[in-house]
Amino acid sequence: MPQMRSLLVLWATGRCNLRCRYCYAAGVSQEDMNFKTAKQAIDLMGEWPLTIQFAGGEPLLNVGLVEAVCEYAATRLRDVRFAIQTNGTLIDKKAVQLLKRFRIAVGVSLDGRPEVNDYLRGNSLETARGIKLLAEHGLATNLNAVVSDFNVGSLTGLVDMALYFGNIHGIGLDLLRKSGRAAAKPTAAEQGQQQPVGTGPATEAALRDALRLLYRYLRKVNSALNFALSHKIRVREFERARAAMNQAAALAASVPSAALAIAAAAPAAPTTAAVAAAPAAPTFLPAPAPEAILPSPSGQMLSRNYCYAALARSFVVLPNGGCCPCGSLALDENYQMGNVHSSVQPLALSCQCPKACVSCRYRAICPGGCPSRGLLNGGFDMLDCVMRKTAYQLIEKEKQEEQV
Ligand code: SF4
Ligand code: SF4
Ligand code: SF4
Repeated sequence: MPQMRSLLVLWATGRCNLRCRYCYAAGVSQEDMNFKTAKQAIDLMGEWPLTIQFAGGEPLLNVGLVEAVCEYAATRLRDVRFAIQTNGTLIDKKAVQLLKRFRIAVGVSLDGRPEVNDYLRGNSLETARGIKLLAEHGLATNLNAVVSDFNVGSLTGLVDMALYFGNIHGIGLDLLRKSGRAAAKPTAAEQGQQQPVGTGPATEAALRDALRLLYRYLRKVNSALNFALSHKIRVREFERARAAMNQAAALAASVPSAALAIAAAAPAAPTTAAVAAAPAAPTFLPAPAPEAILPSPSGQMLSRNYCYAALARSFVVLPNGGCCPCGSLALDENYQMGNVHSSVQPLALSCQCPKACVSCRYRAICPGGCPSRGLLNGGFDMLDCVMRKTAYQLIEKEKQEEQV
């Protein structure tokens, strides 16, 4: 059986040339990681298939480490992939060569059109210049946007930006977590003032409306692009919902007992059978669906495989060698896993889901919520549910329309 992939996130530096309003990295030491620490982390991973992601801070401020790590890991490991999460402002010709040489998957943080991104993150022109340079050299990238109370109403702007750049593979939406600067206590001067917009979460209604609008806009744009370009613009959240529904349908078709169990639980149209759940006594798929919420021994619903961190296969290494499962918990002493210079004990994050999951028609395919957001925001964040459910509803409707 193939070994499962793990994720090693190297926090290349705590430094950054931007000052985003909600920066998750704020408060983490400004040190640069040295090669000795990075090498130690890679060696600890043994022979596991590995994705090494460079993050921070702005990892391109320590581009020498990125290069040295790629050179070492590419020779040392049999199965390694590289990725970088950058603000894009420092992408120059030298960085482009490095990204190309090691096929480093690039994610650029961008929260919307320039006026929106300038307010939240700053320096949009430099980010745009970096993305354009990637395009000129034939490199595609993903855009990652943090969804907050400030930009939730203008998510379609991300599609506009993707159209403008022309080399955007996909757009990912990350709901704001109360970490770093977004969790900072108000200064004495700020006491009594309203929290500035851009550091707080969207409301559930605003997120639901925004996703519906984004979906409609995306469909229009993509149907126009069908005539003009060979690629579509994809939003990760819709793609995941589509993939999960397709997988569940395929499973129902190929495992007769699964199909029976699902059909028995399905109150609605046959097209929705694969994702329907029993309202009272939950029946689970015979084999756990790839991204299902699972019941814990105590009967609570737990989100167990939301991400690498939920599967104890995520290792975020800070410049000093300290290790935790998720960058958002870098400063939380309850979630430290040790230090690569001594020993590291893997840790799986899980997230308790709301009771509503038991009777939700999407329960068999829904991964629940981001464990860190649940921990940082003081319990399951219903915005996670709104994000998933809205995406499932939109894709389910799309599938029904396709069948007509
Ligand atoms: S969020 Fe990223 S780009 Fe923005 S200040 Fe923090 S580290 Fe820099
Ligand atoms: S969509 Fe919401 S209620 Fe349904 S399973 Fe997912 S988290 Fe639970
Ligand atoms: S816990 Fe949440 S923030 Fe952390 S890696 Fe998983 S999805 Fe990302």
